[in-house]
Amino acid sequence: MPVVYLVIPCYNEEKVLPETVSRLTDKLNKMLNAGLADKGSRMLFVDDGSRDATWELISKFCAENELVAGIKLAHNRGHQNALLAGLMTARKYADCVVSLDADLQDDVDVLDEFVQKFIDGCDVVYGVRNKRESDTFFKRTTAVGFYRFMEKLGVNVVYNHADYRLMSRRALDALSEYREVNLFLRGLVPLIGFKSDVVYYDRHERFAGESKYPLKKMISFAVDGITSFSVKPLQLIFGLGAAISLVSLVGVIWSLIAHCAHGAAAWIIGIWSLWLLGGILLLCMGVMGTYIGKIYAEVKARPRFLIEQSLNLPEKEK
Ligand code: UDP
Ligand code: MG
Repeated sequence: MPVVYLVIPCYNEEKVLPETVSRLTDKLNKMLNAGLADKGSRMLFVDDGSRDATWELISKFCAENELVAGIKLAHNRGHQNALLAGLMTARKYADCVVSLDADLQDDVDVLDEFVQKFIDGCDVVYGVRNKRESDTFFKRTTAVGFYRFMEKLGVNVVYNHADYRLMSRRALDALSEYREVNLFLRGLVPLIGFKSDVVYYDRHERFAGESKYPLKKMISFAVDGITSFSVKPLQLIFGLGAAISLVSLVGVIWSLIAHCAHGAAAWIIGIWSLWLLGGILLLCMGVMGTYIGKIYAEVKARPRFLIEQSLNLPEKEK
């Protein structure tokens, strides 16, 4: 039986915590009784520098409930960093870790399916939303547009999957090799590879408190996702510069000929050469962008490979 850790990042969640703890305690107990989880299993709450009574509540629950554990971050570092802190802590104690939000918008009833897939040999299990009815029209369309756009840019993301996912200890060890600071976990995890599967679930409304993801944070999260995984925008500059240069070069030649042959106005040559200059400038920026893209990849120092399996090697290294 696996030791299962549930990692729950919390930022100013005093309104939801009591209910969340009681629902998750019920669920975890059911899993323990059903033989799906080992008795060392825990829910690990990560206080992301909250300014309300979140940490006091977590401490109180830790004292009275042995299934609850907590860590407190010194500052508010944002959802992704808080989640990573929880995952990196939990991997020391757990066989598999499931991340979920404090507001239990993600349906906890499918936790059994997650763990069952882990037992069947999956290293990563993605929670995928069935439908987006509980979202506003705006959030729904922008989210779908975002996934489409990411796909176009060549980024591998799982459609309608947020951060409700299970990862094995092995997958978490692999994740720890990614040292980048701009975290976009739902883009990183598919890069890890390993055997994966999906579990479908319905997403509910937040039952108390309010969203900690206002529009401003959503936009910067989306921009982060794009710029952390794709240098296509830089390549675009190069393409644009090349196209403009080509067209305006033709324009310059054409207006020169027209001027000499039948006295077309000289200012047309001037306009075309202006465009040509603009094109060449963009092209040069594109060249620089290509190098910057490479520097960016090097600086991130992502692991160049992760070994999934090895056969017949001696157990001990020399
Ligand atoms: N969260 C966090 N740090 C932050 C913002 C959010 O740890 O700076 C947590 C929050 O407590 C919740 C999860 O991230 O558990 C998702 O946030 P929320 O439910 O507000 O986002 P939404 O579901 O509205 O997208
Ligand atoms: Mg939420």
